[in-house]
Amino acid sequence: MENEIGEEDENCWAPGEFVETISSAELEQKKKSIHMGHDEDVNYNCRKCNKKISLHNRDWHAGLCDDCFDKEVYDEKN
Ligand SMILES: [Zn+2]
Repeated sequence: MENEIGEEDENCWAPGEFVETISSAELEQKKKSIHMGHDEDVNYNCRKCNKKISLHNRDWHAGLCDDCFDKEVYDEKN
């Protein structure tokens, strides 16, 4: 068996940097919403049922309303 990892490495850009830049910027934004209540800044839509959701839900509940989020979590466990 031939080991092709060396070749693949040349095409592989530094994995950490780009991702970290994005996520730290996003994290700054998300920090705002983690302290928000579920009924604050309700200007978003659940990506499943289109119900109005808060910024908190968008950022911390995978963009789902409480109902869909509960179902999603429940489904994953079963
Ligand atoms: Zn929903």
